Amino acid sequence: MLKTTLKNVLVRTLSPKLPDYMPEKMTAAWTEKSAPMKIEKLAAVKGMNDILPPDSARWEWLEDKVRALMGRYAYRNIRTPILEHTQLFVRGIGEVTDIVEKEMYSFDDRSDKHGDHDHLTMRPENTASVVRAVTEHNLLYDGGKRLYYMGPMFRRERPQRGRYRQFHQIGAEALGFAGPEVDAELILLAAALWKELGLTDWRLEINSLGQPEERAQHRAQLIVHLEQHADCLDEEAKRRLHSNPLRILDTKNPAMKAVVESAPRLIDFLGPESLVHFEALKAILDANGIPWTLNHRLVRGLDYYNLTVFEFVTDRLGAQGTICAGGRYDYLIEQMGGKPAPAVGWALGVERVLELIKEEGASMELPAPDAYAVIPESSALPVVLQTLQALRAAGVSVQMHASATLEGMGSMKSQFKRADGSGARFALIFGAAELAQGSVAVKPLRGEKAAPAQVQTLEPLNDVAAWAHMLRSKTTV
Ligand code: ATP
Ligand code: MG
Repeated sequence: MLKTTLKNVLVRTLSPKLPDYMPEKMTAAWTEKSAPMKIEKLAAVKGMNDILPPDSARWEWLEDKVRALMGRYAYRNIRTPILEHTQLFVRGIGEVTDIVEKEMYSFDDRSDKHGDHDHLTMRPENTASVVRAVTEHNLLYDGGKRLYYMGPMFRRERPQRGRYRQFHQIGAEALGFAGPEVDAELILLAAALWKELGLTDWRLEINSLGQPEERAQHRAQLIVHLEQHADCLDEEAKRRLHSNPLRILDTKNPAMKAVVESAPRLIDFLGPESLVHFEALKAILDANGIPWTLNHRLVRGLDYYNLTVFEFVTDRLGAQGTICAGGRYDYLIEQMGGKPAPAVGWALGVERVLELIKEEGASMELPAPDAYAVIPESSALPVVLQTLQALRAAGVSVQMHASATLEGMGSMKSQFKRADGSGARFALIFGAAELAQGSVAVKPLRGEKAAPAQVQTLEPLNDVAAWAHMLRSKTTV
C-alpha cells in the first residue's frame, strides 16, 4: 500500500502534466496494482511495415549484393541523419512538388531554454541530405566523389502496393563530375545490379531536360499550349500551370493524355551542347547493349534536375512500376549554398525491387544454420556452449536448442523436429554417452536422395577445428 502511494506521488511530481500519448487511466493502471487494465495490443503506424524473418534475409541478401557491386564501381558509403531542417527539403526538392506540398512528415521540435525551436522533417528522399553533407564537410575539395546510401525514407502518401509511408531507398550519387560518361556509369551500375539480382523484366526510359535557359523557353511555349486547352486540365494542373507547368507533363490523369502528348517537346528546345551530352550518353548505352527508349514526358517529380533524366520501369508491378529513377542535378549544390559543382544520381525503391524479384521468380541464397545442437540433458550445457563457441569461431553457423520453459530441454523427438525445421544440414547430438568419451555425435539431416544415407560420426570435443570445415555450407532456398 505504501509502495503504491509512493509511486503515485512520484508519477505526479515527475510528470505534473501528462503528455497526450499517456492517458491518465494508463498511468493509473501502472500504479494501482489492485485495478489492472486490459492491455491493448499496439499496431504499427499505417503504411510503415515491419520487416521480419525470413523476409528480412531477402533484404540482407539484396543489401550485400549492392555493397559488393558499389565496391566494384568504387562508390563509397554515406550515412546522413533521418531528421533534417525542413528548409533543406523545401529548398532542395522545390516548393511546388508533391513531396513538399503534401507528403512530408514535419514537426516543430521542443523549444530550447531560450524558447527557440527547430522545424524538422523526416527525410522524404536523400539527395538533398547528401548535398547538404557534401557541402557542409567540403567533401569535393580534392575532386569528385562517388557515394551510395541505403535507408528508410518517409512520405505521407496513400499506402498501397509499392507505395508506403516508410519505404527504403538505395541511392548512388556522383558529385563533381560533369560529363555524360558518369550519367552512363550510373545507368550501367543499375543495369549490372538488375543482372546480379536476376531481374530481366525492366526497361530504361530516358529524356533530357536541357539547361535552365532552354527550359525557360520551353516553359513559355508549354504554358501557351496548356492555356489553349485549359478546359481539359484538372485542378492540380490548373494550380501548377504557372508555378510548375513541366510537372503537368508527368500527370497520371488519363483525361489529360491528349493535351500532354500534343504539348511542345523539351528536346526541340535543346541547344547544341545539351544535345551533344545526350547523344554521348546514348552512344555509351548502345555500345554496352543497354536498350533505352526516349520518353518526352519524363520530367521527374523533383525540381532539381537538368540534362539527363531516366527511369527504370517494369510492367510487372501494376501502377507502381518505376523501380529506379534519377538524373543530373548540376545546380543543386550551388542552390544549397555550396561551391557550384555538377552532379548526377539515382535512387531505387527497395520494396519494389524485392517485389519484382518475387514476381520474376529469381532465386536467392537464404540463410540456414549449418548445424543444430540437440541437447538431451541440461547438465551438458556448459560443455555444449563451450563447443558451440569454438565452432562459431571457426566460421560454423550453429543454432542451439533452447527450451521455452525451465522444465528441461524437451524430448529428443521435439528437438529433432526443431533441428529439421531450422534447415540445418547437420544435427550435433550432445548425448551423455558421447560426452563421456569426449565427443559429440554429428548426424547429417539432409543427404542427397540418390546417394546412400550418410552415417552419423563421432567427433572430438577438444579439436573442433578438425571437423568444423565439414559443417560449413551454403544453402540455396
Ligand atoms: P512515384 O512516381 O512512384 O511516386 P517518385 O517520383 O515519387 O515515384 P522518387 O522520388 O524518384 O519517386 O524515388 C525513387 C524511387 O523510390 C521510386 O522510383 C520508387 O521505386 C521508390 N519510391 C518512391 N516513393 C515510394 C513510396 N512511397 N513507397 C515505396 N517506394 C517508393
Ligand atoms: Mg511520388
